[in-house]
Amino acid sequence: MNNQPHITAIRSALVVGGGIGGMAAAIALATRGVKVELIDIDPEWRVYGAGISIIGPTLRAYRDLGMLEDIERDGAICAGSRIFLFNGMYLRDLDEPPVEAGLPATGGIMRPLLHKIMQRRVIAAGVDVRLAITVDALANRDHGVDVDFSDGSHGRYDLVIGADSIRSRVREIAFAHMAEPERTGQACWRVAMAKPPTLEKGEMFFGHRYTAGITRCGADRVYLWLLTPHEARETHFADDELYDAMKTRLADFGGNAGWIRDTMTRDDWVNYRPLEAKIQPRPWSDGRIVLLGDAVHATTPHLASGAGMAVESAIVLAEELGRAATAEDALLAYEERRFDRCRDIVETSIAIGAAQLASGPPEQIGAMIGGAMHRLAAPY
Ligand SMILES: Cc1cc2nc3c(=O)[nH]c(=O)nc-3n(C[C@H](O)[C@H](O)[C@H](O)COP(=O)(O)OP(=O)(O)OC[C@H]3O[C@@H](n4cnc5c(N)ncnc54)[C@H](O)[C@@H]3O)c2cc1C
Repeated sequence: MNNQPHITAIRSALVVGGGIGGMAAAIALATRGVKVELIDIDPEWRVYGAGISIIGPTLRAYRDLGMLEDIERDGAICAGSRIFLFNGMYLRDLDEPPVEAGLPATGGIMRPLLHKIMQRRVIAAGVDVRLAITVDALANRDHGVDVDFSDGSHGRYDLVIGADSIRSRVREIAFAHMAEPERTGQACWRVAMAKPPTLEKGEMFFGHRYTAGITRCGADRVYLWLLTPHEARETHFADDELYDAMKTRLADFGGNAGWIRDTMTRDDWVNYRPLEAKIQPRPWSDGRIVLLGDAVHATTPHLASGAGMAVESAIVLAEELGRAATAEDALLAYEERRFDRCRDIVETSIAIGAAQLASGPPEQIGAMIGGAMHRLAAPY
């Protein structure tokens, strides 16, 4: 990243949202000479306690951002994944070659560690970070954006990047043609805990009305995810209900999924989240305001690609700003390069979830996943 061509189309940028996409954009722009300010609404700039799967194309994007070694050090790198029947019977290894020679095949990391790695890079790149703040108003004027912040301060930037996730405030303010993401009917249960002693690679469990998987996130950490139909309830699951509810839903599972059910404790991090997704209609920019990440291409975890898509979008945006004569040209080129690839991932992920809800044949679902992985391996 240190020898990237400098960006001349803009001199300053505001990134709204310091999550995976926002931090990637801040790093990619700052290392190309742009003066970047990043704001996050969370006063402590925290992230959830779960792990995250970093599949091959995501590893490639992090390599391009100069962070592969950090992920290899603090996370887990695996040569592939294993497929089991839900009861623990081994079926086969998943054919998961590296997307490029020299890259690891797949991996995972605890989210707080990934955030720390990215936060360190953001600070080292000279990005000015302000927390506990959001945007109240954005006005495109004379090739720049006037911004009113929620603390009463104001600023003016050559570009504003909305990377403020699925309920994006930037999207709400500036993109009237877009809408809130929609529930897909499925939900994801997750537990993060110690690694089962016999687990070497990622594991997936099929053949049940629920689908489960285990991702290695470090030498001795994993998280297990379980996809179920969303259970509409009048109230959310209380924290102390989640543990028992998740164990119950794992009742039929064997192998390491059964080991996790029997070994998880009330101190382990358990989470339940209804799934939502939406590929937002074009255009993705308005004047000098542009969206990336879940704000514009929110997906479900079926292809474990939401973070990868966000990092890719950040890199492509920086590349196009480095290439184009004007920011407006760069934003059009960014959208042109990203729209079809992101739409494919979002729509395929939704379709896989729908097939699981309908108890579709495992071969059909496997073919949908395999086809998408093949397309994702193509350069971004
Ligand atoms: C259950 C589940 C499992 C997943 N598993 C995986 C996986 O294994 N692999 C993978 O690649 N992807 C996975 N994803 C998707 C991935 O987490 C997201 O796609 C990714 O985090 C998107 O990055 P982002 O920067 O757009 O948003 P986020 O990472 O969510 O960051 C948004 C940031 O914006 C801040 N913010 C929010 N509102 C405002 C505001 N108004 N003003 C200022 N700041 C604001 C937030 O505090 C946050 O820091 C999963 C998603 C779900 C729901």
